[in-house]
Amino acid sequence: MSLLIDMRDKGWMSDVDLKKLVSVNLSEKNIVCGPPAASMPDVQMVVVASFFNDDVLSYLPNLRLIQKVGAGVDPMLADTNLPESIRIARMGSLAQAQEMAEYCLTEVLAYQRNIRNYQTNQSQKIWKPSPPLKTQGTTIGVLGLGHIGKEIAKELSAFGFHVLGWSRSSKKIEGITSYTGLDGLFSMLSLSDYVIGILPSTKKTDKLINSRVLNHFKKGSVLINIGRGALVVEEDLIEAINSGHLKGATLDVVSKEPMPIAHPFWEHPNIFITPHVSGWNVDDAISDIAFNYNQLINNKPLLHEIERGRGY
Ligand code: NDP
Repeated sequence: MSLLIDMRDKGWMSDVDLKKLVSVNLSEKNIVCGPPAASMPDVQMVVVASFFNDDVLSYLPNLRLIQKVGAGVDPMLADTNLPESIRIARMGSLAQAQEMAEYCLTEVLAYQRNIRNYQTNQSQKIWKPSPPLKTQGTTIGVLGLGHIGKEIAKELSAFGFHVLGWSRSSKKIEGITSYTGLDGLFSMLSLSDYVIGILPSTKKTDKLINSRVLNHFKKGSVLINIGRGALVVEEDLIEAINSGHLKGATLDVVSKEPMPIAHPFWEHPNIFITPHVSGWNVDDAISDIAFNYNQLINNKPLLHEIERGRGY
């Protein structure tokens, strides 16, 4: 059985460099780099990044497992031609989850300490002190308490914020109040000064943050979305900010990436954009690839396998 690495990702690491790292734990195995140019019947597992389309499938007649580098598997699940028999697994990087918690803390503190206002004031040579907001009096609601959301909630709580979390199933995480269901969502939003989105893109979460849901946000709150752009109806978000109901938004993910030049987010004074960089390093989880290769050949349970029916 061969393993194909076909990431087509210029930003993070080349296929050849990843092969070197994976080979440490799979030294005897045949690992090949993509993209495939002819049928590869020996390949039963392929490692991909965000790229995925039917091209790959047509060359891999005996494919059994798609291993995602990272966490989001929406591009694979969106492919209606992907046979049900092909399993999908994601990585479980603690380093990436901690990096995303750092990103959220950075953003929350930038608002708490009025940093963006001071940047604007400096460009206009305005000296205007204003009081910082207090950590202890601030509530943060985290949408999604999975691998990454749980880490974000724990780190923000340890920093001293009051943290609430919303997920499909109820959670017991020390110091975090758990909410579920639509009523739970509305309750949590009404209490949160910051709402952090770290949900996967699924049929149930896409467009979840629309005008109706935005009406339940606390007045003057801030949305920080780092999961997937599909969560937010972007026109509705702009409307909620322009009306003064929301203070602003920080978005690491948007509906179309790279964001088109004409997109109104680029020039909005209360929307801060980063180019899908909140979670970058997954080095600590590269060993998941070799682990899952061995589990697959031995017909044992995979690490971080996606439940295709629920979409994450
Ligand atoms: P997990 O699959 O571990 O967790 C998903 C969480 O969302 C779970 O708590 C789950 O609830 C909850 N959830 C899913 N659907 C619903 C729903 N309909 N209603 C309420 N809660 C729901 O994912 P991760 O935490 O690892 O990652 C989340 C997403 O973040 C990824 O799917 C990816 O798209 C994105 N991401 C973005 C990155 C970036 O750089 N911007 C980097 C890495 C990931 P339950 O626990 O009950 O199942």
